[in-house]
Amino acid sequence: MALPIDTITILPVQPIATRRLEEIRDVLHAQGIRVVHQKSPILRPAGAYDGRRHQFHAEVLLERARHCEERPILAVTDGDCYAGKLNFVFGIAEVGGRVAVVSLRRLRAPTTERFRQRAAKEIIHELGHGEGLEHCRDPKCVMHFSNSLSETDAKSSEFCRDCQWRLRAKVPISGTGTVA
Ligand SMILES: [Zn+2]
Ligand SMILES: [Zn+2]
Repeated sequence: MALPIDTITILPVQPIATRRLEEIRDVLHAQGIRVVHQKSPILRPAGAYDGRRHQFHAEVLLERARHCEERPILAVTDGDCYAGKLNFVFGIAEVGGRVAVVSLRRLRAPTTERFRQRAAKEIIHELGHGEGLEHCRDPKCVMHFSNSLSETDAKSSEFCRDCQWRLRAKVPISGTGTVA
């Protein structure tokens, strides 16, 4: 079972190459999700970039995306991101809020195919949070938290049975908030 999302809006955050955005559209399309609107790329919002870390503060990007009225919305950047105590994040989302951020920076791979697989997993993961799912213990489930690329590569792009059931049943969200 795929995500219960038919259409989505993309918010590109600089730096992001047009080619990357096209790849993301393809990744979403393969999931049966049509990009109905791609907003004009925005420069980093005030306070979003930490010059000492050379990283973006993912929560500031999430807040920026939250200000858009479209839902679901996915902010995409090629800038490296961190959040809270995590040295880096592949993305973050508001659980149940249908707002997510994905950083493609660390998903780079020797082949386009591998990059697309990684991007698909991280995008589906963050959109899954947006639909109300939390982290899953099953290391193969796309909702398993990956702390490294090897964990991303090891998991599938599919929801486990439990997560599928939760998506279908629209289980009420217990712990709202922002998660990576
Ligand atoms: Zn699961
Ligand atoms: Zn997560």
